[in-house]
This record gives sequence, C-alpha cells and structure tokens, in this order.
Amino acid sequence: MNHFTYNPQPARVVFGAGRVGETAAEADRLGGRRCLVVSTSSQKSLARKIGRLLGNRCVEIDLSARPHVPAEIVTTAVETVRNQKIDLLIAVGGGSTIGLAKGITLETGLPILAVPTTYAGSEMTAIWGISRDGRKTTGREPAVKPKTVIYDPELLVSLPAALSLTSGINAMAHAVEALYAENADPISLLMAEEGVRALAAGLPQVVQKPADLDARTLTFCGAWLSAAVLDQVGMALHHKLCHTLGGSFGLPHAATHTVVLPYATAFNASHAPNAMAALARALDCPVDDVAGTIQDIARLHGGPVSLAELGFSESEIDRAADLALQNRYFNPRPFTRGDIRALLQRAFEGVRP
Ligand code: NAD
Repeated sequence: MNHFTYNPQPARVVFGAGRVGETAAEADRLGGRRCLVVSTSSQKSLARKIGRLLGNRCVEIDLSARPHVPAEIVTTAVETVRNQKIDLLIAVGGGSTIGLAKGITLETGLPILAVPTTYAGSEMTAIWGISRDGRKTTGREPAVKPKTVIYDPELLVSLPAALSLTSGINAMAHAVEALYAENADPISLLMAEEGVRALAAGLPQVVQKPADLDARTLTFCGAWLSAAVLDQVGMALHHKLCHTLGGSFGLPHAATHTVVLPYATAFNASHAPNAMAALARALDCPVDDVAGTIQDIARLHGGPVSLAELGFSESEIDRAADLALQNRYFNPRPFTRGDIRALLQRAFEGVRP
C-alpha cells in the first residue's frame, strides 16, 4: 500500500456492560436539555427506560421507526421536533431506528446520541437512507453521523439468536469488503481484520447462549470496528447486490447479507489475495476456504444459506442481475452480466462455495 488518505471522523464511543446508565451524562455533554427518544414499538420498554434515565431532559418518546425509513414518518417526527423545541435526538434500537434519527437530522441538523441494539452498524456512519413511493434514496452527510454512541452489550441479550447471527454476519460483511476497498488504509485494514476475528469467534457462542455477556461484548466490539470501516472506506459488489435484493425484491436486510457474503467473497477471492490472507488469519482457516468458512458460520448455527430460503424466486435472477449492473462502482474483480447472473444462481441454490 503506497498511496492512501487517512481522514477519520471519529465519534465518542462509550463501551461496556451497564453503560446505558450513563445516557443522561452523555446527553449533558452534547448540551441536550430537550431530548426526543426515537425507537420502535417492539422496543417500547427499553425506550421508556432510557426516557426515565434522562429524567426531565426527555420531552417525548417516538416509537414510529420502521424498516427503510419511510419519508412520511420522518416528516411527522420533524414536526414533533419543531413543536417541542427538541435539541437532541436519542436513537435507541437497530438500523431502522438510527435511520429515522438520521432522517430527522437531515432536515433539522440536530445532533444524535445513538444507543444501538443490533450489530448493523448505522451508528458509526454518515450514510443515510429514506424511502419515498417504494424507492430508497441514500447519501452521505457528515451531520447525520451520531456524535456519541453508547455500546452496552446488555442491550443485546434480548436480540433473538437467529437475528443475532444474521445481524452479526451483516456486520462482518462491512469488514470483508473493507479488506479489499479501493481506498483502504493501514488503520482500516487492522480494524477490519480484527472485526472479522471478533465476530467469527463470538457469534457461535452468542447463538448457543444469547445471554452470555462475554460473547455479546466480543461481538459488539467486532460490530463497532466493522461499522467504523464501513464509514471510512468504500464498499463493493457484495453491498450492491444486497441493496438490490433488499430494495427491489423486499428481502430482509441482515439475512440477505448472510446469504450473499460467501458468494461475493468467493467471486472476489482471485483478485484480492491480501484480503483473503487477512480473512484466513481472522477466521483461522485455509486461505482457499475463506468463503466456505464464512458460510459455515451461518450453516452450522441454523442461519440461511440460500436466496431460495429467503423466498426469492429463481425467475427473478435475470432482473436482479440487470439491476445490479446499473451505476458502475468499484470491485476488485471486473465482472460481466454473466458473472453476476452465475453468482446469484449459486446464491439461490446455496451450495457451499
Ligand atoms: P432493524 O433496526 O429493522 O431491527 C429489526 C427488529 O429487531 C426491529 O423490530 C427492532 O425493534 C428489533 N430489535 C432491535 N434490537 C433488538 C434487541 N436488542 N432486542 C430485541 N429486538 C430488537 O434491523 P437492523 O438489522 O438493525 O437494521 C437494518 C436497517 O439498517 C436496514 O434498513 C439497513 O439499510 C440499515 N443500515 C444502515 C446503515 C448505515 O450506515 N446507514 C448500516 C447498516 C444498516
């Protein structure tokens, strides 16, 4: 690596079991006197608990977060923010919740304090997405990146084993693509390799014992490192395929990453030897079995391995291949439509790469 630009935009990270108890102090650091807590209806009790921790700083709790951040929900929340003179957003939940807070910030400029409860990683990035009329628009805007992130592994204990596994592999996908990113740097490479190592070591334990705090701590640390590199460097073919399958075919976000990652890795292996060497070290496997070893993490622990299992129809492969070819983007291995079609066919069938 002879040329790179290292320009991190760090957030304050407060990490450790029980540290959600410091939410009020962290809100004070950001000058939050009138906070809006954002979450989903299924995480109502956690949102209320955080509201109580904030005391009279909590003005309102909004439980309207939904997958893909529908624009109308953002509009309603922005009205609340303006009517209630909110000065700080507290996002408590997964990528959908943090996505809603980012949507509000795009319009209001308010700072965000994020309390993530999945491994998805949105809390570490300046990437936003909003859906209008079934179409998701995404972009990068430094203002939407949370100023402070509280990673409390105790909040993951309630995340079901199946969702923990797919969400953890979603996190791993950020680190895998960071290892062959066009704009990688020495720090992003270290963080990405360590992210994969922590996730691969911890996820099997999490699936067996979702309440094991050591395993939750290890995997949350891996997810943080992986999310940080997602913010720092560009992603490639794997992410493009997953956005196509999620955005145009409605496949579930984390499960789609879980299925596609082994096939994207296998496809890129011949053109990313340094990345494969790093992955072999992190996964403790032979360098020619990286893709299969990633799939084994899902297969051996009850996770999905084929697009067929996710309800994707084989007859849609051609349309998906066409969509994935729109807007050219960097990938270590050049590809044709035939390559993408063949990759999707293998992912549909789920045969170990
Ligand atoms: P999610 O936020 O939709 O959460 C899934 C479900 O799990 C929700 O019902 C939620 O309430 C529930 N849940 C979350 N944490 C829980 C917990 N600890 N215990 C019990 N239930 C819990 O799913 P996600 O996978 O976290 O996020 C996916 C979304 O995030 C996608 O839309 C994706 O595009 C986006 N995303 C964005 C970025 C970014 O940088 N902008 C990064 C990664 C993902």
